[in-house]
Amino acid sequence: MVRIAHRGWRFNHLMPPAPAAYPGPEPMEWEFEMQQITTTTAEWQALDREHHLHPFTDPKVLGEQGVRVFTHADGCYIWDSEGNKILDTMAGLWCVNVGYGRQELVDAASKQMETLPYYNTFFSSSTPTQIQLARRLSEVTPAGLDYIFFANSGSEANDTIIRLVRHFWELQDQPSKNVFIGRTLGYHGSTLAATSLGGMAPMHAMGQSLLPGFEHIMEPHWYRHGQGKTAEEFGLEAARALETKILELGAENVAAFIGEPVQGAGGVIDPPSTYWPEIQRICRKYDILLIADEVICGFGRTGHWFGSDTYGIEPDLMPMAKGLSSGYLPIAAVAMNKRVSDVVNGGGVISHGYTYSGHPVACAVALANIDIIEREGLVEKVREETGPYFRQALQQLADAHPIVGELRGVGLIAGLQLVRDKANREFFPAEEQPAIQCREHCIEENLILRAVGHTMVACPPLTISRAEIDEMIEKTKAALDKTAAAYGLL
Ligand SMILES: *Cc1c(COP(=O)(O)O)cnc(C)c1O
Repeated sequence: MVRIAHRGWRFNHLMPPAPAAYPGPEPMEWEFEMQQITTTTAEWQALDREHHLHPFTDPKVLGEQGVRVFTHADGCYIWDSEGNKILDTMAGLWCVNVGYGRQELVDAASKQMETLPYYNTFFSSSTPTQIQLARRLSEVTPAGLDYIFFANSGSEANDTIIRLVRHFWELQDQPSKNVFIGRTLGYHGSTLAATSLGGMAPMHAMGQSLLPGFEHIMEPHWYRHGQGKTAEEFGLEAARALETKILELGAENVAAFIGEPVQGAGGVIDPPSTYWPEIQRICRKYDILLIADEVICGFGRTGHWFGSDTYGIEPDLMPMAKGLSSGYLPIAAVAMNKRVSDVVNGGGVISHGYTYSGHPVACAVALANIDIIEREGLVEKVREETGPYFRQALQQLADAHPIVGELRGVGLIAGLQLVRDKANREFFPAEEQPAIQCREHCIEENLILRAVGHTMVACPPLTISRAEIDEMIEKTKAALDKTAAAYGLL
């Protein structure tokens, strides 16, 4: 069906029916359909205000401003209901790795919907796309992670991990090994258990959401916490906070440590080079399982297939979501190594699972998505071409700009730390909101960056071109200029 949208009217040009449906001598007829579009942005906003509770949004502020409605997208661009063409350097929400408008993914979904739109994976059942995807993931994930459980979101993947890991220790007669250690500003999702695993204070505060059995250590943010130390010294120190915590709790009570290779939602915190090897050493020493949350870092974001490849991490379990389907459909997976799978496979019925675990349509889309990443060499492109170009351009901007204290990140994920006094590494006080202001200025420039705390975050599709990176830099600079001017820094 061809759709031509016009202000006020939509002209739907329907394809002719298949010839078999018209056995007679008369020529095939084309169908047309006229449909009036009556909804304006103001009407969308009114309806939304009345009926829709938004995640991670202050409803009162939203009610005053009105929601922004996005209507379509292509490549690295999205369009809003006012017709603005906007460069989406957040790839949706860290997920549209192959960019928008991929017909191949649409076709994969449509074909699978026609063949088998749904069947469950409970009680010894499976479907071909699910089996293929499990196999495919075992190939692209780091060596040893060859066994897969499916879920529908990063949060569900992490809930799955909590249950599986506790089950793993129970099966080995160590039920007291049930505490999880995560990090401040770690993000592992928003279900009750994933909220506890993460280290986001406002999330813990809402609805008494920090369950017992979840502990947190400091995030490895050198620029903020490591004054007077080299990055390498600080990396070791931040990792040794894990050892201190394990000794405090008793290793016999600790099940696992979880960390994102690069903390995303916490403001893009890439650790010093000494951090992950030391974390790994400590986990091995005390026999603590190591979980690398790859929901953002996975599928090429850091210049390798997984953040674990970039940092040399050898996790026992690995949740993934977002880039797994480039966000085209919800799907998540947990990869585990043989040590974990051998134990849980010998422990009787797995009393856990989701109606849509391994949804056949989502699996078909994920398979096609992985095909695109591989065929177009997107991982190598990030590592060798766009990643370095992106970093260099942002580094120049960061070095020159009075409101930017540091550039963080790796590959195609970046954070620009906004500071009040660059020379003295002085941060803005918590009550100031320069990043929120900067984000609004970005929108005036038709650019989407995310504001996290006092950091501006970029995480574009892996398909972004040099010209689009140039456009991002130019618009980011304009927004930073306006923000700096408002604080008297320019
Ligand atoms: C987004 C995210 C999650 C949660 O994924 P959802 O699909 O939103 O449940 C978990 N871990 C990390 C690192 C994430 O960025």
